[in-house]
Amino acid sequence: MTDAAGTTEVDVVVVGAGMAGLYSIHLLRELGFTAVALEQGDGVGGTWFWNRYPGARCDVPSLEYSFGFSEELEQEWEWSEVFPSQPEIERYLNHVADRFDLRRDIRLETRVTAATYDEAQHTWTVETEPGDTFTGRFLIMATGCLSVPQIPDFPGRDTFAGPVVFTSMWPRDGVDFAGKRVGLVGTGSSGVQSTPELADMAEHLYVFQRTPTYTWPSHNGPLPPEVQREAKANYRELRAGQRTTPGGVTGSTGAIIMQMAEDRRILETTEEERLAVLDEMQWDATRVWADALTDPEANEASCELYRIMVRRTVEDPDVAEALSPRGFPIGCKRPVIDSHYFETFNRDDVTLIDLRKGGIEEIDETGIRTAQAHVDLDVIVLATGFDAMTGALTRVDLRGRDGKVLRDVWAHGPRAYLGLQVAGFPNLFVINGPGSPSVLANMVVCIEQHVEWIADCLVYMREHGYTEVEATVEAQDGWVDHVNAIADTTMMTAPSCNSWYLGANIPGKPRVFLPYVGGLHRYIEKTDSVVAGGYEGFTFAGGPSGLAPKAP
Ligand code: NAP
Repeated sequence: MTDAAGTTEVDVVVVGAGMAGLYSIHLLRELGFTAVALEQGDGVGGTWFWNRYPGARCDVPSLEYSFGFSEELEQEWEWSEVFPSQPEIERYLNHVADRFDLRRDIRLETRVTAATYDEAQHTWTVETEPGDTFTGRFLIMATGCLSVPQIPDFPGRDTFAGPVVFTSMWPRDGVDFAGKRVGLVGTGSSGVQSTPELADMAEHLYVFQRTPTYTWPSHNGPLPPEVQREAKANYRELRAGQRTTPGGVTGSTGAIIMQMAEDRRILETTEEERLAVLDEMQWDATRVWADALTDPEANEASCELYRIMVRRTVEDPDVAEALSPRGFPIGCKRPVIDSHYFETFNRDDVTLIDLRKGGIEEIDETGIRTAQAHVDLDVIVLATGFDAMTGALTRVDLRGRDGKVLRDVWAHGPRAYLGLQVAGFPNLFVINGPGSPSVLANMVVCIEQHVEWIADCLVYMREHGYTEVEATVEAQDGWVDHVNAIADTTMMTAPSCNSWYLGANIPGKPRVFLPYVGGLHRYIEKTDSVVAGGYEGFTFAGGPSGLAPKAP
């Protein structure tokens, strides 16, 4: 309902129309709440709307990286590949938006700039860039974990004569690389995935690498029809199974997913035995050792196997050495999956620029100058990452109790209860917030679990006439301590590890391990037990609910 002043009033304001925003709108509507999703882009799909760079592909199998809330949707949608490509996922999400008639509750090209909690009314008022205002009892930040690009401040970037494009803000109409000298900066997942594709399209590709990457072949291919039929016949078991695993993936859908066997310990093998495993399993032999997860010596032994594989694959020994990761543990950063990444460096029209021999000094009109040389370029592609997990939340002027701003409250690192709520910010929910499994698990399963948990909480409040819910400081402190304690038992917080999980890719960002590493299955047990215990760690305030059920 929009009043004369142009303010739209709903029960729930959702920020974002990616997977989390789409499902939120759908479920809340089914439950009789009014909701609107505000989306910055001019299309739905979130991550899969923005990251349309060549080669963009999900690292979770398609049959598992899909919604489980509708059996009809599961049955009617056909996936074509084991691992879905960006265009296919974007088509799927547009289908979801149409099939469930979600677009009528989505405002595109609407960037949320500020949101303020009214302590007397127990409502949030949300300001947007076009100037429209929205109020809602609840605010759900479905803003994604990897949605704010990290753009390095290279001197002279604006002087470059050709296009500078970001993998995470890729132009809808694509980029013409034919006959062009292309410079790609960044060798994380986005850079690694785009390298072979850019090599195919460009006249010459220069890959600017600051840190070599641990990446594994995806073994992607067409999805066998019998595998799809089997999954469709057993989707309920599959979905239930996902929730009992640490990563939200059963691995039963045609994808080759390496499972670590508890009894496979690299330090208990001889050199010959390790090499025999390497001969048999190739790249996958470098990540099957259980002791590599916790023992630095075992981890380094796995890293050495990895470097042997690089040398076996890359013909030029100097290039192989430059591409070999050293000095930080395998598994401390997000594993990358690729299609013929290392083989691409055997092409004559691909050059690796090892920035450890001299970093980027500036961009000028004709290319990139490093401390080693000037590289003449026609197009620059930046695959330089994201301000992960907190960036999309701290960029909005989010004001909770006493006018406190989330950005300030989190100045020394994010603190959230279960990654869902922040003390001092009542009626605000975050989907896949810091302290939840999120980026360490299948995001779709995490999203469904969070959206359903929040929706259940809203129904509980409606039934009890509550108008305000807030995490307690004690519960939040306890959870944050637990999240940190578990992370400290893994390689992921090793001093040599500088990952975006730790915020280490953003200058000045506090070094705090962001996601919950204890596993999705344990996290679900915890969030379920919180509810069973009467929403332990949350306080509720009453009042006229204003949340009377409406006809769906
Ligand atoms: P990223 O992993 O953070 O990688 C950024 C890259 O840019 C790194 O190689 C980094 O080097 C480099 N870089 C940053 N600033 C630089 C500078 N000033 N000079 C030179 N190099 C610089 O980002 P991403 O590749 O976009 O991936 C982020 C995450 O998104 C992934 O880990 C994954 O979770 C997700 N993702 C998933 C998929 C998939 O499902 N397959 C695909 C794409 C992205 P340093 O390492 O030295 O910092």
